[in-house]
Amino acid sequence: MGSITLKNVSKVFGAHAVIPSIDLDITDGEFVVFVGPSGCGKSTLLRLIAGLEDVSDGEIVIDGRNATELPPAKRGLSMVFQSYALYPHMSVRSNIAFPLKMAGEDKATIDKKVQDAARVLNLTDYLDRKPRQLSGGQRQRVAIGRAIVRQPGAFLFDEPLSNLDAALRVNMRLEISQLHQQLKTTMVYVTHDQVEAMTMADKIVVLNRGRIEQVGSPLDLYRRPDNLFVAGFIGSPR
Ligand code: ADP
Ligand code: MG
Repeated sequence: MGSITLKNVSKVFGAHAVIPSIDLDITDGEFVVFVGPSGCGKSTLLRLIAGLEDVSDGEIVIDGRNATELPPAKRGLSMVFQSYALYPHMSVRSNIAFPLKMAGEDKATIDKKVQDAARVLNLTDYLDRKPRQLSGGQRQRVAIGRAIVRQPGAFLFDEPLSNLDAALRVNMRLEISQLHQQLKTTMVYVTHDQVEAMTMADKIVVLNRGRIEQVGSPLDLYRRPDNLFVAGFIGSPR
């Protein structure tokens, strides 16, 4: 569960090839970070993997199976949105349970899965609260809880911490890393923040204008950047 392969994947909007052609292997259990400047195609690439956008060309293979034509719900992936995507009128419990209700699961199963997710995310005492009665970090954890309950093969995060303040961001970074160690589920994490990439990733994919500049571990990229773009972006001493 949780391997993702992109073969020759491209995305064209109108006359603009936002992603000219990308090949990439993501191994089961890896924490992969897509990093690059604003507008370089990070979100587009993540949305292609999620199935929220159709590829213009190429193939997406998830767990060894061609998923290029599959709708998002059938890909076995969960996207984590920013915490403001919670339903304000619903309790934490109902927010976390929502995807399971949509999937038509029975009440006992839903209760159990919500409890399990709440335990992992330290939200057990907050299940009856509304989002506005929570701190920013707790809200972000509820957003993650909504992804966890579906027990996905991989989590997809698109800049989940960008609307949190600096101190909280550092905290949540750590929490997401710990969650990864605990669940050992593949995580694909998009950010424009080099520090987030360097501290969280097993593998960093540096993107620039829809192309991969380099793929490697944080240490690889720091010690052996392939080019000046990577060196400059990662802040290595080349
Ligand atoms: P990032 O997430 O790295 O900031 P995006 O993937 O959001 O970048 O965008 C990459 C490029 O694709 C940008 O030039 C953006 O304007 C363009 N783009 C993204 N989505 C669309 C769309 N639905 N239609 C047209 N252009 C788009
Ligand atoms: Mg983006």
